[in-house]
Amino acid sequence: MTPDVFAAAGRAGRPLAGEVVIDAHTHFGHGPDFPIVRPTPEALLASMDRLGVQLSCVSSIPAIFGDAAHGNELVADALRRHPGRFFGYLVVDVGYPEKVAAQLAAGRAAGFRGLKVWSYGARPGLPYNHPNYEPVFAHANEHALPVLAHVFGPELNELEAHIRRFPRVRWLLAHIGSAELEQYMRFAREYPTVYVELCLSSCPRGLVEQLVAAGLEDKVVWGSDAVFLDQASQLGRVLFAEITPEAKRKILGQNARRALGLVR
Ligand SMILES: [Zn+2]
Repeated sequence: MTPDVFAAAGRAGRPLAGEVVIDAHTHFGHGPDFPIVRPTPEALLASMDRLGVQLSCVSSIPAIFGDAAHGNELVADALRRHPGRFFGYLVVDVGYPEKVAAQLAAGRAAGFRGLKVWSYGARPGLPYNHPNYEPVFAHANEHALPVLAHVFGPELNELEAHIRRFPRVRWLLAHIGSAELEQYMRFAREYPTVYVELCLSSCPRGLVEQLVAAGLEDKVVWGSDAVFLDQASQLGRVLFAEITPEAKRKILGQNARRALGLVR
């Protein structure tokens, strides 16, 4: 059997070395009504270095909660100060459609290479099939950007028509395991552009194994939801999963490279 360098590093508490490890789902900034301990690029970088994560893909929590102008700047600043360690997902104010075109253009000029969308759930928001999302997804399609979509079940139905209609977008459907598992898996199987992303506080036992057994090892992408959740515990879900080291290598980095457009 090939030695499992992933489980061995985890057990020893060593950073992963010589592996491409990409966290596809992270955030900066405080919550709307609760503080987060050090929700900064420097704190996330320290965590990345402890674990062996080269790149974290970040969106801003204040931007998600209604303040795109100030929120995206937290990410833009990190992209300037730590180029190569962060990949920025831009958030736009879909509730104010007259602002969206300028925000998209400014975001791309500031170095953002993907979009993050967040519909509703913990806050009021528009469903993804609301007309205000049209220009956002059309822009992602035109520029072949990845879109990280917050999903907790019902949003899958709202996204399906967009997935069909905008084939140049790579879709990262967040929080697989939260609800509607079969539907997430069907999307990943049926649509070449759909990836499913793992971060979730509840960590359902056997989920990673089930996805690999279902033939989806090329479509699963690791993410942590740091700085909401801890990168280490979310990484452990993959390091210690009962799957092959090769499948772990894909889930922890190789699949994200394709999904994010870092390789063809
Ligand atoms: Zn998140």
